[in-house]
Amino acid sequence: MDFDKNKYKVWKLPHPMLIHWIVNPGLAFNELILGQRIPKITLIDKASDAPLMERQYVPCPHCNTIHSGSLWAKQGAFKNWFGLFCPDCENIIPCIWNLTSLVLLAATFPIWGWFRRPLESRWRIYKKNQFIKNKDLAPITAKNTSWLKMGLIYGTLMFCFISLPNIISADVTSKYIITQLLIWLVAGLAFGGTMKLFLGRRKKV
Ligand SMILES: [Zn+2]
Repeated sequence: MDFDKNKYKVWKLPHPMLIHWIVNPGLAFNELILGQRIPKITLIDKASDAPLMERQYVPCPHCNTIHSGSLWAKQGAFKNWFGLFCPDCENIIPCIWNLTSLVLLAATFPIWGWFRRPLESRWRIYKKNQFIKNKDLAPITAKNTSWLKMGLIYGTLMFCFISLPNIISADVTSKYIITQLLIWLVAGLAFGGTMKLFLGRRKKV
């Protein structure tokens, strides 16, 4: 698939954003648990001066449709375990994999390998219905995104998955619990703030 180089800037490997997604072990959590996936190719509209998140497009290599990146954000941006579902041709838009995810997937293959096909077909039906259900929802824009909520959800999830198992299994002090809560609160706010700065920026990239 060729793209108009004058209109779009193409983000693909070895773009630093994508390399970061591959090498940061923490992002295996986003991929495997939350089902957040990054497409192999993202197009950034060079002409527009809208916030970055509204200038992102994802091309489908199967039907050549150039989708707005917010199409998946509208569905919650998660649960894309098998890749990004194209609502036009119902194929999967290829995504990159985080290295840690790949190692974990390979190690646990004997468990999930048996269920891959039935799981994928159930997921496809789920995704198809999700797109039908959310068809008329207003597009996601930088303005109507709650970055604070995004940060707090992230912090809460990290606390539940990383600190909570420790708290339950070990004899920890209340000081430990409070420290962990504070750490994830700050991390969550930092995450939401970074996302706001990055995805909301209007400067051309
Ligand atoms: Zn398609």
